[in-house]
Amino acid sequence: MTYIIAEPCLDVKDTACVEVCPVDCIHPMKNEAEAFGQARLLYIDPVECIDCGACEPVCPVEAIFEEAAVPDKWKDYIKINADYYKKSE
Ligand code: SF4
Ligand code: SF4
Repeated sequence: MTYIIAEPCLDVKDTACVEVCPVDCIHPMKNEAEAFGQARLLYIDPVECIDCGACEPVCPVEAIFEEAAVPDKWKDYIKINADYYKKSE
């Protein structure tokens, strides 16, 4: 299980979630300048995420969901989050 960032994050990217994640599994971070500039949203690494839930309540646009609770219209984001980390390996 993991948490997922969905469509409401698009072009918001305020990084409130990054600040609270205890295992730094939300990327790209602001210090990854090139990747951060290109990304339209942030992604959670499903392997590193420890399912603590700290990120979910701090998101100002309610873009973060536990995997099992992702609304049907945003289910594609489960793969989109995971794929971001496959590409960067
Ligand atoms: S649930 Fe916890 S570990 Fe997973 S992305 Fe959110 S803050 Fe990080
Ligand atoms: S807190 Fe929400 S809007 Fe901000 S970067 Fe994280 S997921 Fe995106």
